[in-house]
Amino acid sequence: MTFPYYDPFGALGAILGILIVVIIASCVIQIAIAVWVYNDAKKRNMDPTMWLAITLLAGCIGCIIYLVVRDPIATETTPMAKEPYDNKAELAQLEKGTFCSNCGSEIPAGAKFCPSCGNPR
Ligand SMILES: [Zn+2]
Repeated sequence: MTFPYYDPFGALGAILGILIVVIIASCVIQIAIAVWVYNDAKKRNMDPTMWLAITLLAGCIGCIIYLVVRDPIATETTPMAKEPYDNKAELAQLEKGTFCSNCGSEIPAGAKFCPSCGNPR
């Protein structure tokens, strides 16, 4: 009888072992989620310590609440805020035709690339 599942103490040991592994794994996952939330909250100029505590205390629910209420990433909003200006400048340039700096062909108004060589205007 060396196979552990035929031995009641061995079987109990296996169940306890699995339980311990599951508990440790869920703790590790929860800490990993909390660390991710902490770093993500920092990127979004939110209070990272508060969200770390909420995620550790409330687990998955805390993480879901965070995903619902989190602010957009600061670096995401900056280029979006600048975009209308860039688009306007680009559109103004696109409205008039120009000549290719690479081959000298005329690039018609509205075209982004030279029709004969493909060089961007
Ligand atoms: Zn060209």
